[in-house]
Amino acid sequence: MATKSTLGRRLPVALLVLCLPAAVAFGGLWFLGQLAWPWALAGLALVALGLLSVLLPHFRHIEALRRYVAALLRAIDGGAGLPRPPETGSHLLAPELDQAIVETARERERRRRELEAAMAGNESILSNLPDPLIMLDRNRRIVRANPAAEALFGAGTAGRNLTGVLRNPQLLAAADAAIAGEGGRIVEFTLLGEVEQTFSARVVPMTTPALDGTVAIVSLHDLTAVRRAERMRADFVANASHELRTPLASLLGFIETLLGPARDDAEAHERFLTIMHEQSLRMSRLVEDLLSLSRIEMREHTPPDRPVDPQALLDSVVGALELRARAKKMRLELEVADPLPVTGDKDELAQVFQNLVDNAIKYGRAGTPVRVAARRVEPAADPAARRVGRSCLAVSVADQGEGIAREHLPRLTERFYRVDTARSRELGGTGLGLAIVKHIVNRHRGHLTVDSTVGKGTTFTVYLPLDTRAEQPAPGGASLRKAG
Ligand code: ADP
Repeated sequence: MATKSTLGRRLPVALLVLCLPAAVAFGGLWFLGQLAWPWALAGLALVALGLLSVLLPHFRHIEALRRYVAALLRAIDGGAGLPRPPETGSHLLAPELDQAIVETARERERRRRELEAAMAGNESILSNLPDPLIMLDRNRRIVRANPAAEALFGAGTAGRNLTGVLRNPQLLAAADAAIAGEGGRIVEFTLLGEVEQTFSARVVPMTTPALDGTVAIVSLHDLTAVRRAERMRADFVANASHELRTPLASLLGFIETLLGPARDDAEAHERFLTIMHEQSLRMSRLVEDLLSLSRIEMREHTPPDRPVDPQALLDSVVGALELRARAKKMRLELEVADPLPVTGDKDELAQVFQNLVDNAIKYGRAGTPVRVAARRVEPAADPAARRVGRSCLAVSVADQGEGIAREHLPRLTERFYRVDTARSRELGGTGLGLAIVKHIVNRHRGHLTVDSTVGKGTTFTVYLPLDTRAEQPAPGGASLRKAG
């Protein structure tokens, strides 16, 4: 099209104009009879050919230059890279000018790529930022919201007004202050929903407003877990102090009585010392459990890596608790269907099963059996093993006791949580047994489940990853052992 416009339109015109004097000269000579018309025509054709050979490359050059300039304009308008000067066989402009344009084009292209890479990097940082981030314009309108913010406030957060997303007055005041350039502020607020969430919002003004209109940035940081941990720690300290204070107060009371009114009462001595002994044992158990818990917590991030033989482990736990079971006329039954080694810490696993079997004896009905069973389970067939993500040994401890009402189940592994505090204390419980179990199972990257039916009984099941060094596809031999 362009070629046609220059070469096809202007070239004939230029040719015609330049041929005109020659045509007049040859026409005059022919008119005056000085030249035969064929010679005059031949002469004119010769002149036209000569002119054409000069004009054609010249017009091609101009056409190439015109296209180049048009491409330059398009590139500048559209923000694309500069075009290279076309190859015309010779320099389009002066060689230095050609070179300068090529270098400018290269430099511009390089900068454009750098800018694109930097923008892509920023975009990726923004998108992958785990904390929600909101950008505000002068009217508190959300110019942009990163995916974390969209996940929190819902799709389509960008474009809405901040007031429609967060109604906290302090936060809105902080946003207004930042928009007015009064400096940044940090505001803590709570989002009420299905699950209450606490956030810290840092609202900062931009030093220079962005091209998209952003003048202030609100970045949110989820403090829910931190606040919950703080609350739990405070509760824990209060509970632990309370648990220790009770036997301590009782010990002090008896000591004062023995030193005072009962100083010479031999019978009271005997009775009080027995109670004091019990209270001391209770305190000692409590301190022991507290220390256990803190030791396990400290090691929780490093899973154990030794193979543990479940048969030997459960044999020894059951053996150690047989006497206690017998005192309640209970029978301990142990069945290890698949005696496959698990990856674990022998002493910690012994503590897990001791606590579970001890609870089963404590809370089971006198005269009923407590059944301990171990079998292999696969992730494909068992949801708990699926959570562990590996083939597991599932060790269950089932009693026939009063059971646990549904609403207590999710809280059983909390420290000091008891269904019946008085009963637990009376039975010598510290309220820490299941918390210890949970932390040990967590350290073993295993899983704990509890099934209970009120009036029928409770089954705790511990899922432990099988030791890969000894993992075999087929289950091993079974063994059944009865005691008590
Ligand atoms: P405790 O020292 O009180 O037994 P645990 O942490 O071992 O503390 O258990 C927490 C609570 O869970 C117990 O107080 C009891 O109410 C309940 N519990 C635990 N095991 C059983 C069970 N086998 N049957 C019924 N209730 C149980």
